[in-house]
This record gives sequence, structure tokens and C-alpha cells, in this order.
Amino acid sequence: MRLFLKLFASHLLVALLALLLLFLLAEALAPRFYQGHVAHMYQAFAMMGGGVMAEALRQDLEEGLRSTLTTAFLAALPFAALGAALTAFFASFRIAKTARLLAEGSRKMAAGQYNLRLPLLERDELGELALAFNRLAEALEQVERKRVELIGTVAHELRTPLSALQGYAEALGDGVLERERAAEGIAREVRAMRRLVEDLSLVSRVEAKAMELHLEALDPLALLQEAAERFQDAFQAKGVALRLPSKGPLAPVLADRERVFQVLSNLLANALRHTPEGGEVRLLAERKEKEVVFSVEDTGSGIPPEHLPHIFERFYRVDPARSRKEGGTGVGLTIAKGLVEAMGGRIWAESQVGWGSAFRFTLPLYLGLTKGG
Ligand code: ADP
Repeated sequence: MRLFLKLFASHLLVALLALLLLFLLAEALAPRFYQGHVAHMYQAFAMMGGGVMAEALRQDLEEGLRSTLTTAFLAALPFAALGAALTAFFASFRIAKTARLLAEGSRKMAAGQYNLRLPLLERDELGELALAFNRLAEALEQVERKRVELIGTVAHELRTPLSALQGYAEALGDGVLERERAAEGIAREVRAMRRLVEDLSLVSRVEAKAMELHLEALDPLALLQEAAERFQDAFQAKGVALRLPSKGPLAPVLADRERVFQVLSNLLANALRHTPEGGEVRLLAERKEKEVVFSVEDTGSGIPPEHLPHIFERFYRVDPARSRKEGGTGVGLTIAKGLVEAMGGRIWAESQVGWGSAFRFTLPLYLGLTKGG
């Protein structure tokens, strides 16, 4: 209400001041224009011999002009004041209403009511302000929905190994399971929980962009070679071939060594998990302008097109039961995406069911040494 009164009073004051100024100007200027004409008449009259009468007439006319102006001003004043008051009222009311709605909306939003939207009263800057408020509310609503969803998903992810642990404990208690087998099972579930907790902590750091990076110039081919060495045994055990690029040297990239290995490990683990025995996984690195494109290509099951746009989302799984059974935490690609983007690159997947998948990511070239490659 205070804003409304202030706006109303200032609008009214401006309008009345303008009116007063108009009157004073008319009072000051109108007689000057008028005087020339009267002087002319006065001369004509004087020549005709009516000097005294002419003077009286001149005074009378001047007074008449002043009183006409004053009367006109006083007569117009109530109408002008009413017009000014009405205009001031509506203009102030509109601004004050938007301000009140915004204040009320912000209070409700601060109390957690994110589904609130302001009516779009006008198409001007006030309307834009309301629109901006609505966009903010929408964004907050989405963040809140994701937060609630995430808590639900994490609870669900933890429930699975916890139920298994409870099962082992009960089986041990009832004596229906040997101690060694129960211990093995318990250790497996604890490992899965530990991996999940570690991955979750990494996801939260990646998403909060709170990761420390130790950027240095790294040889792309050496990175692929070392990653391949770390996975050699696992690939051999499953009977999947792991191929490395045969091309010559490449210009170095600017990246964090351990983080690149983490990305490559997640992609290689996925490729191995989804490629059947006898299949092949190829590692590639290729320079494209100011970056190097790394690829992990497999001849595995492929990803159906309807799932492809979602696989980098947290806990998105094409086949949830299979992913859990095979030790996936459902956040491997989310972590890979966060790490690649933190190092200034992009990551994407290309896939065809029955043919295989290719996961590619870029890393920026180390600009101190851009020749060669
Ligand atoms: P997960 O722990 O389930 O592997 P990810 O985030 O690493 O979680 O991957 C998300 C989903 O993407 C996986 O559940 C899987 O269905 C699919 N996916 C990832 N890599 C491949 C691949 N190379 N071939 C086929 N599907 C894949």
C-alpha cells in the first residue's frame, strides 16, 4: 500500500505542477501577444480623438484577458485534477499490484511452494518481470523435483544390496547357507555398496564442479595404451579382443591424467560388459582441429534409439536388472560426462542395435604444442 500511495502522490503532484506551470506561462506570455494588437487599436482610436476612452478600453481589455485566463484555469482545474487523479490511480495501481504479486510470490516460493505462477497482466517491462519470475519458479520446481527423485533413487539403489545382506544374515541364522558362501556373498554386496557410495560421492563432486584438476600435456596414444594395459586381463578372461590404434604420433592434449583414465575405464568396462565373447573393442584417437577425439568402439549389443538420449543421466539404465547383476552402479556415464566437460571436452554415443556402440569424447589440444598430429 505504501508503494501505491507514493506512486499515486508523485503522479498527481507532477500532473498538478504541469497544470500550474501551463497557467503561469499562459499568464506571462498571452498578454504580450495581445498587447501588440491592442496598441494598434489604441493608435487608431487616439487618432479619431478618443484618447481617454482608448486608454480605459485598453485597461479593460487587458484585465478582461487576465480574468478570462484565471476563470478558464479555475474552471479547468477540477476536470484536469480528476483526469490526473484517475490516470495516476490506474498507473500506480498497476505497478503496485505487480510489485505486491512479486513479493507474495517470492514469500511463497521461499516457503517451498514452487508450483506458483504469476498472471501475465501486461506485455511491457512489468510483464517481462512477471515472466522472469515464472521462469525462475519453473527452474526451481525442476531442481526440487530432481532432488526428490534423486533421494528416491539412492534409497532404491541402497535397498537392493541391503536386502541381499539381510538375506545372507537370515540364511546364516537359519543355518541354510554355509559360512564361506555367506561370507562371499556378504563381501560382494558390501563391495557393491562401497562402489555405489564412491560413485555417488564422485557424481556429487562432478555436478557441483568442485573437482580439483591437475592439467598437464598428455600424449593421447600413451593414454589409450595404458588404459588398455589395465584392462588386458579382463578382456582376455572374457575372450573379447582389445585393439589399439596403429597410427603415428598425435599432438598432446591438456587434461588430468587420472580423470582421463577414469573416463576410459568407465567406457571400457561398459564396452566389455556389453560385448559377447568373440567380439571386439577398438580404441581410437584422432586430431580434429583444436581437439583430439577419443573413441571406444565395440561390436556389442548396441543401444536402442529411444534409450540413447538418456544414457548419460544419473541412474539411467537400459536394462536395470542386468546392469545391477553385472556390477554397474548406473552412474558410470554420468561421471564420464562430468569429468570430460570439466576438462573442457564433450562426450556422446553412437549406436546401432545388433552392431555395437561407439562412445566418443574430446579433449582440448595442449596449445603450447599444436604442431604435428
Ligand atoms: P551402468 O552402471 O548401468 O553401466 P552407465 O551409466 O555406465 O551405468 O551406463 C548407462 C546405461 O547405458 C547402461 O545401463 C547400459 O544399458 C548402457 N550402455 C553403456 N555403455 C554401453 C555399451 N557399450 N553398449 C551397450 N549399452 C551400453
